[in-house]
Amino acid sequence: MRAARYHGNRDVRVEDVAAPEPEADEVVVDVAACGICGSDLAEYSHGPRAGEASLPYVMGHEFGGTVVEAGADADVDVGTDVVVNPLVACEDCWCCDAGMYNLCRDLTVVGAQRPGAYAERVSAPATNVVPLPDGVSPELAAVAEPFTVAYHGLLQSPIRSGDDVAVVGMGPIGLATVQLARDMGAGSVYASGHREARRALAAEGGADVVVDPRETDFVETVRGDTRGGADVSFDVTGTESGYADAIEAARPGGHTTLVGVFEDEIEADVMAYVSAQRSASGSAAYQTGPRAAEEFGTVLRKFAAGNLDPESLVTSRIDLTDIESEGFEALADGGSGEVKVLVRP
Ligand SMILES: [Zn+2]
Ligand SMILES: [Zn+2]
Repeated sequence: MRAARYHGNRDVRVEDVAAPEPEADEVVVDVAACGICGSDLAEYSHGPRAGEASLPYVMGHEFGGTVVEAGADADVDVGTDVVVNPLVACEDCWCCDAGMYNLCRDLTVVGAQRPGAYAERVSAPATNVVPLPDGVSPELAAVAEPFTVAYHGLLQSPIRSGDDVAVVGMGPIGLATVQLARDMGAGSVYASGHREARRALAAEGGADVVVDPRETDFVETVRGDTRGGADVSFDVTGTESGYADAIEAARPGGHTTLVGVFEDEIEADVMAYVSAQRSASGSAAYQTGPRAAEEFGTVLRKFAAGNLDPESLVTSRIDLTDIESEGFEALADGGSGEVKVLVRP
């Protein structure tokens, strides 16, 4: 079968590789589409982060498709349209014992330690498979993954209906956070993003006020409009300036949820917490293991019900052979207007 294998920095090659065979508790999924994640782009541009010994391997963890083979112990019918939760928990460590499967001490990921979905077929444990509701195509289901990251982030926040919400960072997960906050009954939603096309999508997705932080002071904008800040805020950038804006945009006593992945150490003003009695918490991906379908399932039902608009994030659908030029390189170009690129193997 065809697969796009990562051979190192800015080097992805479409090659012929052996198709996966399912273990007894696994299924094999024929991939309809796989989204290119910011983490894949970072690996392409700055990796390999796990070192040369990890190479070559197949990335891709945001995908939907159809089950074409099932192992003897797999409780999933061949022919089922599914999305796969790519986090494989060990179900044996103390975090797994406590039900915190996303915090598993021995987590493996489809598209990192296990072969991913920039390939015609991929294998995964049957527990990680989430059947699609009517009205959600296997292709669009690929976008459920970033929405589920955003949904888990909102669940880690004390957000209540009517709360004013500030979201810093308008990548796919930031845009999904805006849509979900609106769906969960937010008061006013404030969004901050660098790229023009993404700011337009934030407004379409339900943000009331959208700013380019290089031109307009986001913190002053939020504070001027509210009781001194948003009730809850989200950093979805993983950068020092994004983090600072998210903390400072929260009102005294407010809460910030940190969803973005920080590649570098940052400097933080701790007094922003102490003097205004703010708090912050982290959010790590989404539930998995025996709970793999909980948050993914909720997001998929919201897709099916029309509460969310996943299609709005999809800016291109490309063939596997074009994954470098029309996928990674296009996303790396800040002026390209790309948001979510779906790769069709
Ligand atoms: Zn991702
Ligand atoms: Zn574990």
